[in-house]
Amino acid sequence: SSVSTPIRATLFPGDGIGPEIADSVKQVFSAAEVPIEWEEHYVGDTIDPRTQSFLTWESLESVRRNGVGLKGPMATPIGKGHRSLNLTLRKELNLYANVRPCYSLPGYKTRYDNVDLITIRENTEGEYSGLEHQVVRGVVESLKIITRQASLRVAEYAFHYAKTHGRERVSAIHKANIMQKTDGLFLKCCREVAEKYPEITYEEVVIDNCCMMLVKNPALFDVLVMPNLYGDIISDLCAGLVGGLGLTPSCNIGEGGIALAEAVHGSAPDIAGKNLANPTALLLSAVTMLRHLELNDKAEQIQNAILNTVAEGKYRTADLGGSSSTSDFTKAICDHL
Ligand code: NAD
Repeated sequence: SSVSTPIRATLFPGDGIGPEIADSVKQVFSAAEVPIEWEEHYVGDTIDPRTQSFLTWESLESVRRNGVGLKGPMATPIGKGHRSLNLTLRKELNLYANVRPCYSLPGYKTRYDNVDLITIRENTEGEYSGLEHQVVRGVVESLKIITRQASLRVAEYAFHYAKTHGRERVSAIHKANIMQKTDGLFLKCCREVAEKYPEITYEEVVIDNCCMMLVKNPALFDVLVMPNLYGDIISDLCAGLVGGLGLTPSCNIGEGGIALAEAVHGSAPDIAGKNLANPTALLLSAVTMLRHLELNDKAEQIQNAILNTVAEGKYRTADLGGSSSTSDFTKAICDHL
């Protein structure tokens, strides 16, 4: 509220339901008088040779210059000769950590009432390094790359996050009993960083046991940090604990403090263009972006308006069992501000 010049942030409305839910964010931000000026970028339909992707160099430069952005879902184009848009963003902007807060929405009943978890996923290597090949007919090989540099970086981010967000515990999730070298190195790096944060409890949990514990009692965990593939799976498991894809936000953290927030879900082609999408996940992602910018009052105000609208139960989209349109639900949030 003390900011007078607007902060510029990049906005990729994205594909499918993206433009509809991005509209919702723009409406809510303008109703809350958030001092953000959006720099909108669309994904083109020709390949920019400088990025080898439908994402232009100018779009990437916009995120680099602004340091913050919000992205809607991007459909992965089918065919050869260009890279996946999400992969391009991740690689080009070096988005090394994906942070997914996962908490129960008051008034929206699921199996558990007080879920409050943060998963932090290493986002650049591991099982998703893209190094797969056929050795001989009938035998293929996939390389899981774990580096000291990337592991230390994500561990450092996780502990720093825990400390600055009043969290008490960091659990490193692994399978080092089998993946001794790769997950072993990941754990070693987490341990090294843990030593610098004596006020945070550190533990190591084998991934299979972690899954069992999460579904039995999510309150056993606080902040979870893990290699790429485990993070992909565990964060969806956590999303399921609180009501699904329409609700779960995320934020990608990159080199030099870049923050690119996005919903966890995809472009939902089955409901695109029908005014049916739940904008909550993208709105809550935008809230994480505001917190990153330390616009905490605005973040709190918007988050409360969203939570109150959902809790009241009068306006809910179909995925939450209601019959409201995206625009009616958005209007209800604006009315709660
Ligand atoms: P999806 O998340 O788009 O959809 C899965 C199901 O969830 C669908 O039934 C959809 O209607 C529903 N859903 C998702 N978001 C919703 C919302 N906000 N409100 C209400 N319902 C919602 O997953 P998919 O169908 O596997 O993927 C579709 C496309 O999205 C693919 O091209 C995929 O590559 C892409 N994708 C992109 C991202 C990203 O940009 N980060 C993530 C996942 C998938």
